[in-house]
Amino acid sequence: MKKVDSEASWKSKYYSSLEELEQKEKDWEEMEVLLRMATSRMSLAADGISKVVDYRLSELRDQLRKKISKQKLNQVLKSITAIIELLEKESGSATLLPGWKWLDQIVQALHFPKKYQPQVKALRRQISYCESDTQMQPVVQNFIKLLEKVLEHSTGGEQKESAGGLFGYLKRGQRSEAQPAQHDRSGGERPGPESPGPVRTASCQSGADVIYIVANQIMSALEEKGRIKDYIDKARDVEDGQALLQLAEEFAGEIQRVWKLNTEPQGITANAAMNQLLDRFCLPPVLEKNIQKLRERLAQDIPAAAWPEVISRVAALVQYMHQQTQQEKRDLETFLAQVTERLKLLDNSLQAIDKERITSHQNNLKFNADMDEQVTDIRNTVSAASNLEKLKIDVANRLDGITRHMGLFLQQEGLRDQQAKQHIADLSSRLSQMEKEANDLKEKVARQRELALIDKLTGIPNRMAYDERLDQEYRRWRRFHDHLSLALFDIDYFKKVNDNYGHKAGDRVLAAIATILKKRIRETDFIARLGGEEFALLMVGADLDNSLRVADKLRKAVEDCGFHFRGQKVLITVSAGVAEFVENDTPDDVFERADKALYVAKNSGRNRCEKG
Ligand code: GH3
Ligand code: MG
Ligand code: MG
Repeated sequence: MKKVDSEASWKSKYYSSLEELEQKEKDWEEMEVLLRMATSRMSLAADGISKVVDYRLSELRDQLRKKISKQKLNQVLKSITAIIELLEKESGSATLLPGWKWLDQIVQALHFPKKYQPQVKALRRQISYCESDTQMQPVVQNFIKLLEKVLEHSTGGEQKESAGGLFGYLKRGQRSEAQPAQHDRSGGERPGPESPGPVRTASCQSGADVIYIVANQIMSALEEKGRIKDYIDKARDVEDGQALLQLAEEFAGEIQRVWKLNTEPQGITANAAMNQLLDRFCLPPVLEKNIQKLRERLAQDIPAAAWPEVISRVAALVQYMHQQTQQEKRDLETFLAQVTERLKLLDNSLQAIDKERITSHQNNLKFNADMDEQVTDIRNTVSAASNLEKLKIDVANRLDGITRHMGLFLQQEGLRDQQAKQHIADLSSRLSQMEKEANDLKEKVARQRELALIDKLTGIPNRMAYDERLDQEYRRWRRFHDHLSLALFDIDYFKKVNDNYGHKAGDRVLAAIATILKKRIRETDFIARLGGEEFALLMVGADLDNSLRVADKLRKAVEDCGFHFRGQKVLITVSAGVAEFVENDTPDDVFERADKALYVAKNSGRNRCEKG
């Protein structure tokens, strides 16, 4: 009994110690994961401090990513210690992007109004003298003072200077955006822009207030454009300091772009909008004069009182286009009504023929029955005959009857045959007429469709055609995965051509560039005018590098072609962005990449091509 007891207690001890061991092992595993994560994060945090350290850290992260043994982990920890020592040694000459550098970048990004440039220069000089963050305090104070000054000025009376840049935007934001009260970092309420807050009255209490509001404005501007989330997501995935710096630059670029969008109310004037509307009209040559007159008026300042008249002229053209479309619709409806009517007539004719066929058949049957009766009668007469003379007369009578019947029958059938022939002739002439009308209509529709897919000004496919072709090529690419690339071209400083030489000259440039592009592309490639001064080129079978080469060849061709206005040679150039379809790309993804690349090409001086 005792033995059993001791055995039981031994067993339970064994199980509990086993459980304990298992738990410990689990704890160790979790610890190991945590350790690995912490080490990796720590190494990321230390990234960017010095090149030597960066190299060791990236090695370390590589090791940590693999599942390494405890001994290896031990080595890793040792190397961290070594790195920390290295950091301590290097801390005197730390190469971490210091606060003053960030401040300098912010000052640059803010684009202060022109009249503040001397102060900005002085401030940047002060910033450049900073050697440590502690020396920055007075510089930050100066920065804030300058901000206050500009903001005070922009809420004051001088509209013109303050209209652009961040400051103009802030000012407009204050005037128009009723924002809820914002929370500061301590959880308290900050006055919204509508209330007399620090920026509005320029009685800023602290620089933090200004920067906070500036940041808020930037955030809301970016949020408006739906891009901020992208940057947050990207920032989460960033793996090293270099990439983070690049992201920060991109982010700053985006801020610039959004500011530009928000601060350029004159970006598209009513005149330009009307001009763009006119560009979209597809009117017959007889109305070309009306459009030309309107364009001439739109080229000048239109006083408010004259706008109703201009708008009513544009409206008249819209109405004309509408009527034209309505007329086409009516034509089609009339034709369909005719077809329906003709089909009805055809059906009637066919029914009549069918009726005749039935009557003819019945007639045939009756004739056969009549014949049978006559023949049976003759046979009976012959078998009952006793007198030859009487038999002769009877048979002759019967034969007369048969001849009469036959004559009648043939007459009726002949008539019917004639009618049927007539009917068939009618039918076939109606059919061929219908066939001809259907063909005419088909051709008309095809012509109209072709016209609808061609850009009137340049004679190359338009945006609708591009959408159609893109859809086809995209489906083909998804199926066969052959290379497919897109290039977006945009004429450089085209507005200047219109402004300096007139809209007509601008139109001629557009047509000439379209011809240059069209002439030089492969038969399988596809060029279209997307609108305005933008063209898209779809390149089948071309990868990113090849498509960049093609785009650059076209760019060069435009540059070399030599435009002349009023006897003077004028250089006209284009910029392009190219992107290739990869992995799970949608057409929108590729367009966006090409567009971004185009944006880069524009920002890097124009007359160049970039890949996205
Ligand atoms: P960037 O180098 O940045 O592209 O400058 P840009 O001047 O070419 O660009 P912006 O978009 O400011 O101007 C495009 C101009 O193209 C404005 C518009 O009047 C003109 N435009 C658009 N469509 C037509 C058209 O059909 N005919 C003419 N003549 N001009 C057009
Ligand atoms: Mg453009
Ligand atoms: Mg342009």
